[in-house]
Amino acid sequence: MSEPVKSPALSSEARQEARAPQGGATLDVEAVRRDFPALALAPYGKPLVYLDSAASAQKPEVVIETEARCYREFYANVHRGVHYLSAKATVAYEDARRKTARFIGARNPNEIIFVRGTTEGINLVASSYGRRHVGAGDEVLITTMEHHSNIVPWQLLCEEKGATLKVAPINDRGEVELDELEKLMGQRTRLFATVHVSNALGTINPVREMIALAHARGIPVLLDGAQAVPHMPVDVAELDCEFYVFSGHKAFGPSGIGALYGKLELLQEMPPYQGGGEMIRTVSFEKTEYADPPARFEAGTPNIAGAIALGTTVDYLEAIGMDAVWAHEENLLGYGTALLENQPGLRLIGTAREKVGVLSFVMDGVHPHDIGTILDREGIAVRTGHHCAQPVMDRFGVPATVRASLALYNIREELDQLAAALAKVRELFA
Ligand code: PMP
Repeated sequence: MSEPVKSPALSSEARQEARAPQGGATLDVEAVRRDFPALALAPYGKPLVYLDSAASAQKPEVVIETEARCYREFYANVHRGVHYLSAKATVAYEDARRKTARFIGARNPNEIIFVRGTTEGINLVASSYGRRHVGAGDEVLITTMEHHSNIVPWQLLCEEKGATLKVAPINDRGEVELDELEKLMGQRTRLFATVHVSNALGTINPVREMIALAHARGIPVLLDGAQAVPHMPVDVAELDCEFYVFSGHKAFGPSGIGALYGKLELLQEMPPYQGGGEMIRTVSFEKTEYADPPARFEAGTPNIAGAIALGTTVDYLEAIGMDAVWAHEENLLGYGTALLENQPGLRLIGTAREKVGVLSFVMDGVHPHDIGTILDREGIAVRTGHHCAQPVMDRFGVPATVRASLALYNIREELDQLAAALAKVRELFA
């Protein structure tokens, strides 16, 4: 299995034509790679080719170090203690909130609620905002390309309230047609929740246009930014969405921490999501008064070190520049798409005109799991399965795909290795 295999032929012109970076932003990818210790690993003695960042991304040393340093040097519970360590941890935790706000363009740090991740953020909105604003006969609108975490919380809410979940279709490229979406926005639509960038297809939704359509009808919008924040500049105030959610672990930060952005006037009128310590102003058995946001939505001891390390993560990304990250990945995507399109028997699932670096595909006669297993033995990490987006698989008539997902630390040589390994898979199954 380990004898060398030639890369599938791709002319140098075709390689050159693979989309060139736009704008002046550049990224020193070799320097970036040195920042990520995991990239030096060698599974089965082969240099790691990590193409699974959409599932979870690797972490730079500064982030690992911040989390460790927090536990070594300034760890205590936040907001509660009068002592030195608690004060230090609280300052660092609230600093991280400010940094996270700045990173995604929230104008007020109180609009940032630390949550476990995207899943918890969406559940928070469904339970709190949703329970208050969605009633019998109302509708919640989503799209076909949602991750399960942006489907099931709305199904639970609709079941509880006697409301209906409406789903906007996608075309064969994996794009939402705006006129179809518009038709589904009605008098009873109480919320439109959509993925900013699809994890299964890579599609970047035209969220500005979508938000304009929704707002023209007074419909608030939640964006699932799990796959957008690690790859492109995001400005929630400019987008003018009501809610925006992302996970730290996909954006090179720790797992178990993420952020929900909500417009302050909405957060202020929303009931608590969970009850407990920290989220109250006063408690008695007769009546409890709730704290203002964000504390109202952060019951219990939070992921203190995780939040602080998320602050370091966004500092790290800002220092590189999200424009540079975007340009680098766009270039890689063009290169990778050209390579894979050239492979006989391979079909790309998700060919939207606006995409991030997600290469989802199936191969004639070979199950995606077999491909994943063979690639693994070559040191290549990809994801195989339905990617928690079963309705997308149904839409394209496949049970699963292989997904190679790119991030700021990937290089063209890794895509060459992927293509070579796929050629080997084809030979094995010929
Ligand atoms: N939405 C999208 C688009 C995702 O890709 C993911 C993770 N695969 C999620 C939501 C859920 O994120 P988490 O598991 O971090 O809560």
